[in-house]
Amino acid sequence: MANSVNNSNSTQDKPKFPEQVTGMYILAESLRRLGLMDVYGLVGIPVTEAAYAMQKIGINYYGFRFEQQAGMAAATHGYLTKKPGVLLTVSSLGFLNGLTATANATVNCYPMIQISGASDPTMVDMNMGTYEQLDQLNTARPLVKAAFRCSYAKDIPSAVARAYRAAISGRPGGVYIDMTTPALGEIMDASEAEKLFYTPVDIASPVAPTQSAVDRAVEILTSAKRPAILLGKGAAYAQVDDKIKQLIETYKIPYLSMSMAKGLMPDNGELSALSCRSTIMEKSDVVMVIGARINWMLEFGKGKWNPDMKFIQLDVEPTEIDRNVPIAAPVVGDMGLSLDMILEALKGKSMQTESDWIPSLQAESKEKNAKFRTRLEDASKVSPMNHWSALSVIKPFLESHPDIMLVNEGANTLDDTRDAVDMFQPRHRIDCATWSIMGMGMGSCIGAAVATGKSVVAVEGDSAFGFSGMDFATICRYKLPVTVLVFNNGGIYNGIGVNPSGGEAPAPTTLDINAQYDLIGEAFGAKGYRVKTIEELKAALEEAVASKAPALIDVQLAADAGKESGHIGYLNPTPLIDYTV
Ligand code: ADP
Ligand code: MG
Repeated sequence: MANSVNNSNSTQDKPKFPEQVTGMYILAESLRRLGLMDVYGLVGIPVTEAAYAMQKIGINYYGFRFEQQAGMAAATHGYLTKKPGVLLTVSSLGFLNGLTATANATVNCYPMIQISGASDPTMVDMNMGTYEQLDQLNTARPLVKAAFRCSYAKDIPSAVARAYRAAISGRPGGVYIDMTTPALGEIMDASEAEKLFYTPVDIASPVAPTQSAVDRAVEILTSAKRPAILLGKGAAYAQVDDKIKQLIETYKIPYLSMSMAKGLMPDNGELSALSCRSTIMEKSDVVMVIGARINWMLEFGKGKWNPDMKFIQLDVEPTEIDRNVPIAAPVVGDMGLSLDMILEALKGKSMQTESDWIPSLQAESKEKNAKFRTRLEDASKVSPMNHWSALSVIKPFLESHPDIMLVNEGANTLDDTRDAVDMFQPRHRIDCATWSIMGMGMGSCIGAAVATGKSVVAVEGDSAFGFSGMDFATICRYKLPVTVLVFNNGGIYNGIGVNPSGGEAPAPTTLDINAQYDLIGEAFGAKGYRVKTIEELKAALEEAVASKAPALIDVQLAADAGKESGHIGYLNPTPLIDYTV
């Protein structure tokens, strides 16, 4: 990102390694000693040597084409491992590009640390117009959990350890470290530097809820007539899969999973109420919310929800409680400890569930699933393909390979894939989540592949792919087992937008129905496929995934497949006016 200029701040003395080290080496060592062995970034002045120093000591450095995608990778890595993902950026624009991902991580409760090169703060503070000048620390501050500035090399080990603790403690999120040029360039005797490193004690210390909160929750749960459990990605993140399974199976509580919690319990399980979302909202009397926020995705707990509903909410963040609707039984604390205490308090107690509650949900699921199957079957016969036609192939493939990590973004592509593809393993679905933003795709594929070592399949809208497509090149350079499917319907929502002025310029939503995304794959040495039928799609998908190599499949859909804003068209300020009349 940064040009090569004569850096007037730098003395350019060369340290006598290994007797002498630089701040950059100290940064690399600080990460290594905390076990942060994967770093995603994009180098340039002033952090290039820091990345070399990391590689030298065994850290895996992944160099991206766009900082935002490196940040998305770090965030996904953090979500999947419960350890902060690390993003390395250069100053000014590189910092800002990365900050988008760090802010998104904070909003989604993914732990990550953005370490950005920064200009000399004494020059920034005096507005001297130094190279890539920007007050990065104050720019980042409102968007992250914690922010630190290293003005001296001696500050680095402490900043990294404290950033680690801040990123994972309580509600996880993004942390920023302003790594100034003077700190990075400082030369120290190695023996002095060695004294700076320390091992933080109890870096992940979970906090337990109070016994009275647990007793209150258990009292309400065991008095429920029509109970349900709502699982969010906080429950998936916490890696307490067995405890959740025990609670649900022992006490026979129907469950509903938010999109990234899908697979924490099997989507097609006996007690899965995935197809009965409205019924749960309207008819349940007690819902236990585990690691989910009652935000826009859940109608703020109002709207369709039973007004007499008693919510039990398990969350590590006290300010989440009562956010939109009063919570009858808040259980504030770490998920693992909270569930241990709840399971203990439940011993010897039994549920009061109405006898027809579960059978009625099962009957509803059966009926809805049958309709769904017909819909997919009908779509499989349509030519050219629409989203459902493509999913009639992708669904059975992914469901018979439950170990594949699924990355998913788009509008209709997101909604339909989420609804169609059942998940059977926890933390195998990564999507655009709380902000519903586009532009996490390639970065999340890379983070997921690196963090898990598993194969990844991304189902991307053609518009969504555009935000991160260049980092398909990164997938290729690191030879990751990632298959990207681009649902090409030639536009944002669809490819049939009309320019209301009658002019030749494309409509605001129009992309290119004839684009060959597969050629982007080939440009970087991946296998590219362009498929127009479900048979071609099936063959390409099977071959691509089996190859364990990067592949890009252009899935040619009809231009009129997909509707405006997908499932959330109601969030547009008004319906689109037809200006062509
Ligand atoms: P979803 O989008 O699936 O509804 P959200 O991101 O809205 O999920 O909610 C996740 C919730 O989980 C957040 O409120 C967060 O504070 C909480 N959370 C995250 N990690 C833990 C943990 N280890 N223990 C308890 N709660 C957690
Ligand atoms: Mg599209």
